[in-house]
Amino acid sequence: MRTMIPSELRQDPDVRVSEEVLRTCVHCGFCNATCPTYLLTGNELEGPRGRIYLIKNVLEGTVPVTEQTVKHIDNCLGCLACETTCPSGVSYSHLLEEARPRLEHMYKRPLAERLLRLLLTYILPHPRRFRWALRLVPLGRLTAFLQPRSFKSLLQMAPKHVPMPAQLAKPGVIPAQGTRRLRVALLTGCAQQILGPQINDATVRLLTRLGVEVVIPPDMGCCGALTFHMGERPHSLQLMRRNIEVWHRELEHDGLDAIVLTTSGCGTAVKEYDHIFRNDSTLANKAKIVTGLVKDITEVIAELGLDKIQPIPNMRLAYHDACSLQHGQKVKNQPRQLLAEAGFEVVEIPEAHICCGSAGTYNMLRPEMAAQLQARKVAHIAQVQPQVIAAGNIGCMEQIAGGLDVPVVHTVELLDWATGGPKPAALP
Ligand code: SF4
Ligand code: SF4
Repeated sequence: MRTMIPSELRQDPDVRVSEEVLRTCVHCGFCNATCPTYLLTGNELEGPRGRIYLIKNVLEGTVPVTEQTVKHIDNCLGCLACETTCPSGVSYSHLLEEARPRLEHMYKRPLAERLLRLLLTYILPHPRRFRWALRLVPLGRLTAFLQPRSFKSLLQMAPKHVPMPAQLAKPGVIPAQGTRRLRVALLTGCAQQILGPQINDATVRLLTRLGVEVVIPPDMGCCGALTFHMGERPHSLQLMRRNIEVWHRELEHDGLDAIVLTTSGCGTAVKEYDHIFRNDSTLANKAKIVTGLVKDITEVIAELGLDKIQPIPNMRLAYHDACSLQHGQKVKNQPRQLLAEAGFEVVEIPEAHICCGSAGTYNMLRPEMAAQLQARKVAHIAQVQPQVIAAGNIGCMEQIAGGLDVPVVHTVELLDWATGGPKPAALP
């Protein structure tokens, strides 16, 4: 694709990355076939090719940044199905990553939208604030009639009960059982440790049982992904910087074989730290080292191998591919193989490459489109009649559980159960 970006803009290294991405695109449109928003709307501007043109036009200054322009980019889930499909290797994520904060600068959103985004930015990445916010939900429900529509859908999505904090996955060092095979840092996540503390507990049990020492640094925090994908750069970079320093300190102090993540949305973002900080003279090297250590939990377990599998009831299991895991990290086989090895009958969900509509904060910011994708996903899952659904991302788990009356659990909870841990509480 030919580009004519003004030379003063091309001084910006991020714009040069976008230019490179734009020039790789041959506008064949293959990507539209797997884009969820294009499938729902049939609108060219709601597909990757249309969005690529739109971003190109914004950079060239040939279209004004209007509500419509922003809407088409906002509607993008960032699911990266288009990247998987593209035969030319267009790095759409890098283009989107540069476009979002640019649009935030160029367009003033309506007040209710700005407030909602501010609320999400300052609450979601901070577990303590998030827990408090959830406690205030009943009060919010009582006063819902006074609030803007976008706030009401947020209240609808909030869980009825806030689980107790994790029992095992607490800051500190949790020693390996038997001979130590690995030493890893576990990112406990921000929203996940509040909404699904049992996931981190299952991870600690499983890893230590397999001979892994688990360290949870006390000053580690949110990976920054949730706000980064909203285009809120300064806040996200601050969170990312802190983690890079914390992990690097841990690496220098006692050594680390891996940084393990159980939330694939976060994993995809941390695997991009090297790209995000490539021009930062103080952090580029550290970010590169950190990125090289990041692994999804199923990648680590697949390398270690499951040990001493216990007999569990024969269950028909539908494995849901989180977009961040299948498109972002290209991790598809490990979870399936591990679950099958653990004794589950793993069945495939039709249209598995299409997003469930969760996508970080997407279901809170674009609830209508998210609801359509949720309905589409649960209808496909229902077709295969599973007894349990497994996924590797808390966002997907909540989204699917909100639309279907079948237990949804994290892959690691099932692997823990099959190797001697307790039965996941969500199972009957
Ligand atoms: S992103 Fe890839 S698949 Fe889509 S139009 Fe461009 S070259 Fe074709
Ligand atoms: S990231 Fe997903 S929603 Fe966005 S353009 Fe690509 S396929 Fe479509």
